[in-house]
Amino acid sequence: MNIAIVGAGATGLSAALDLRAAGHDVTIFEASDRPGGLAAGFKEPHWDWHLEKFYHHWFQSDSDLLRIADEIGVRDKVIFRSPRTVGYYKGAFYPVFSPVDALLFPGVPLLAKVPWGLSAIYLRLTSNWRAFEQTTAHEWCSKWMGAPAYKGLVQPMLDGKFGSYARQVNMAWMWARVKARSFSLGTFEGGFQQFFYELANHVTKRGTNIRYGVRVRSIAEERATDTGSRVSVEFGSDRAVFDQVLVTTSPALMTQLAPTLPEAYLSKLNQLKSLGAIVAIYALDRPLGVKRDYYWYNMPKIAGFPFLCLCEHTNFAKPENFGGDHIVYCGDYLPVDHATMNLSDADVTQLYATAFRRINPDFEPTWIRKTWVFRERYAQPVPLLNHSQNIPPTRTPIDGLHFASMSHVYPWDRGTNYALQLGRSVARDMMTA
Ligand SMILES: Cc1cc2nc3c(=O)[nH]c(=O)nc-3n(C[C@H](O)[C@H](O)[C@H](O)COP(=O)(O)OP(=O)(O)OC[C@H]3O[C@@H](n4cnc5c(N)ncnc54)[C@H](O)[C@@H]3O)c2cc1C
Repeated sequence: MNIAIVGAGATGLSAALDLRAAGHDVTIFEASDRPGGLAAGFKEPHWDWHLEKFYHHWFQSDSDLLRIADEIGVRDKVIFRSPRTVGYYKGAFYPVFSPVDALLFPGVPLLAKVPWGLSAIYLRLTSNWRAFEQTTAHEWCSKWMGAPAYKGLVQPMLDGKFGSYARQVNMAWMWARVKARSFSLGTFEGGFQQFFYELANHVTKRGTNIRYGVRVRSIAEERATDTGSRVSVEFGSDRAVFDQVLVTTSPALMTQLAPTLPEAYLSKLNQLKSLGAIVAIYALDRPLGVKRDYYWYNMPKIAGFPFLCLCEHTNFAKPENFGGDHIVYCGDYLPVDHATMNLSDADVTQLYATAFRRINPDFEPTWIRKTWVFRERYAQPVPLLNHSQNIPPTRTPIDGLHFASMSHVYPWDRGTNYALQLGRSVARDMMTA
């Protein structure tokens, strides 16, 4: 078959890997100048590594990622370390990542941690996520984890991450987080961007044609009399016809690219809920936090922090990889029309830096060498009750046209591992279509 893929992110590249290995002709159209999609990075001239535009790490349980890294011969470049996640309580941050950390966390009384710990063990042992999607995380956690643990640990995370959707997110989302996460976190030598260069090089060397800087404008059914139904793709001022097409963009973009899809499918795409993300990155001339193993800071908005999480990246990947710069991310998930999403970059970096003295009272703005701000409209799918029924199938009603996005990896939360898995599973389906 002659196959087109829209997007050289994790989903598109892993689909290409298997489609090409099975002997099909594969062309990837990628609007950006590089592979990696949401996990792509950038590099300053004096840095050895790329830095992800949006903070990224892997978990040891990311088996599809590790399998692909093995297959393309770069498994030795996946690095696992155990930096700490910390939570806030009454003016200070305390580790909350490991079970021992959790026991010592002062924000929840010791006895109240028992139902919380038992709930976490139960969530790790069970696989019945379908039961969990019938109830909200708010209902389940407040009932089974107990009010103190819910209020101290779960509610700030739900409120911070999902805002006005916090009470509606289903429990399967929480189950997936507890079930699949490891205590060690992974990155790639050279950054995630380097991993995607390796994957893109691998598929290119084996005959996949990746066309960077080419934005697809529209996709439609093409009725060819000789070969049956096929799919046409318009890009720039060109047009080509393919036996099958896989689109890996956001659902909203898919509705614009393929407006001739039947109304029922389009309306399923339109009904999927998601949040945008905004991330400010600071290159500092010294570490921000006093503790050199604190990587991920949960920043409860209820305590007055202007964003959700602060990630001191160079307490995970070493500052030497970034020419001695110390890298700090401040991130938040917001509706795309939220006022902060529309602030100027300078206003965002100024606003978010107001939190730095609560991490380190000695912080001075003169420590900041350079800043960047990145925004994304489709950053965090929001799974509501019985969400499995809301997700449109990857085979669209247009014969030969497939659609696979972050919303399709449910019950898992978004992640490059699941995107790689999704690409492979859609590729299998395309080969039987
Ligand atoms: C803030 C944030 C933090 C995250 N943290 C993590 C993490 O810690 N670990 C982790 O594993 N995952 C993380 N993720 C999720 C991860 O980035 C995604 O799950 C994954 O990258 C999705 O890959 P994809 O290929 O499905 O989509 P995308 O990466 O979105 O790829 C789609 C591609 O399509 C291209 N495209 C779009 N429109 C067109 C067009 N018209 N024509 C041609 N090309 C087009 C885009 O340029 C893009 O390259 C995070 C995401 C965000 C936003």
